[in-house]
Amino acid sequence: MAQIGRFDHVTRLPNRLQFIERFADLAHPHRPTMLVLVTLAEAKHYNEILRALGMAFADDFVRAGASMLASLLPPDAAIFHVSVLSIATAIPVDYPAQAPTLATIIAAAFAGAIEVNAIPIKTKVGVGLLPLDSTQGAAESLRAALVAAQDSRRIDSGYTFYDHSSDAAHLRAFRILADLPAALAAPDQLTLHYQPRITMSSGACHAVEALLRWTHPELGPISPAEFVPLAEQTALITPLTDWVMTTALQQNRLFRDLGYDLRVSINASPVNLSEAGFDDVLLHRLEALELEPQHVELEFTEGTLATNSQRTVQQLTRLRRAGVTVALDDFGSGYSNLSYLSRIPADVLKIDQSFVRPLIDASHDDFLLRQIIAMANGLGFRVCAEGIETAYAYDHLRSLGVEEGQGFHMARPMPADLLQQWLEARPHT
Ligand code: C2E
Ligand code: MG
Ligand code: MG
Repeated sequence: MAQIGRFDHVTRLPNRLQFIERFADLAHPHRPTMLVLVTLAEAKHYNEILRALGMAFADDFVRAGASMLASLLPPDAAIFHVSVLSIATAIPVDYPAQAPTLATIIAAAFAGAIEVNAIPIKTKVGVGLLPLDSTQGAAESLRAALVAAQDSRRIDSGYTFYDHSSDAAHLRAFRILADLPAALAAPDQLTLHYQPRITMSSGACHAVEALLRWTHPELGPISPAEFVPLAEQTALITPLTDWVMTTALQQNRLFRDLGYDLRVSINASPVNLSEAGFDDVLLHRLEALELEPQHVELEFTEGTLATNSQRTVQQLTRLRRAGVTVALDDFGSGYSNLSYLSRIPADVLKIDQSFVRPLIDASHDDFLLRQIIAMANGLGFRVCAEGIETAYAYDHLRSLGVEEGQGFHMARPMPADLLQQWLEARPHT
C-alpha cells in the first residue's frame, strides 16, 4: 500500500516523489554527481501523437523511450520518471563540470527514431545536465535540468548544461506575466504614449498611434515589444487590449473636447479579433463616449493575420462597414503571405521600419520599398511609412507617393499632455 503513488503508472519507474526523497543521498557533497534529465519529446509533438495515434499509443511511446534510455544506463543506475515526458537519472562524474560520456551516448541513441509498436517515431529529445548540489533542493534541481533539456534542442551536440542566463530570461518572462494583472489594476503602472502620424504632403497631423508603456515598480520600464508578445500567449491579452482601448478612446474624447480632430490608432492582437464580441465592445465604447467609428483605427501585424479565423474577417468587415479604419502593421517583416493581402479587410498598409530606417541618403537601394508601395497602391491600400528618422527619408518617401508617415524625425511617442503641447505649437492645418 505504501508503494501507491511512488511509481509512475505508465513506466512503473520510481516517480518524482522518490527522487525528492532520495535527493539528499544522490546529491552527496563528497561525490560529484550529474543529474541527467531526458525529455522524450516536445509537448507540441506529444500532443500530435496523442491526437493522431491515441492515448494508449502515447503511453507506449513513453514506455519505449524510457526503456531505451534505461538500456543505455548502467544496470544499477537510479532512474526516475519525473514528469509525463521527462526521465531523470543521477550518475557519478569525476568533477562537477564534466559532461558525462553518457550524455553523448544518449543524444546519439535518440537522434534516430524510437520504435513504438513497430512504428518508428521521430522525436526530438532534450538532454539537460545539472551538477547536483544538495543546497539547491530537489524540486529546483529538476526545474533547472528541465530548462537545460529544453535549451539542448537548439544545440548540435544534443545535450547541454543548465545555463543561468537563458533561465533568467525565462524567469523574467514568467515574472512579467505574473505581475501584469496587478499592473492592470494599479492606477499608475500602465500608460499610453501617443505618436503623431503625419500626412506627408501637408505635414498635418490628423492621427496618433497609442503605444503602451509599463513602468514596473521593481523592474522599471518594460518595453511593449517584450511584454505584449508574452501577454498574447495568455488570456491576459484580452484585459490588456481592453485597457488600451478604453484609455485611448477616453483620451481621444478629451482631445476632441479641446478641439483637436484626431483619429487614434490602437494596436490590437489578432487574438482579440478572433474572440467573439470584440466588435460589439469597440462600437459600444465609441457610442458611450459619443465618438464616431471614424475616430479610431485598429492596427494588426500581418504575420498573425495570415492565420485569420473566419470570425476575425467577419469582425473586421463589420467594423470597417461601421467606419473604423483597419491598418496592417509592420508590413514586409515576418513572412508575407501575399495571397491574403487581396482578401484581408484593411484600408492602410504600414510599411515596416526595416525598409524605412536605412533611408539615410541616396546611396540606399530602395528597390523593395518601391515594389511594396506599388503593390499596396495597386491593391487599393493607403500607405503609411513607419520609422522615418531623417529629412532625407521623409522627402524620399513623399516622392515615392507614400501618403502618411510616423517617425522620430517628426515626433516621438509622448504622453498625452506633451502631445497636447506639441499640437498647440503647430500651425493648425
Ligand atoms: P508598432 O505598433 O509597429 O509601433 C511602432 C514602434 O516603433 C513603437 O515602438 C515606436 O515607439 C517605434 N518608433 C516609431 N518611430 C520610430 C523611429 O523613427 N525610429 C525608431 N527606431 N522607432 C520608432 P514601441 O512603442 O516600443 O512598441 C513596439 C511594439 O509593441 C509596437 O510596434 C506594437 O507591435 C507593440 N505595442 C505597443 N503598444 C501596444 C498595444 O497597446 N497593444 C499591442 N497589442 N501591441 C502594442
Ligand atoms: Mg502599430
Ligand atoms: Mg509597426
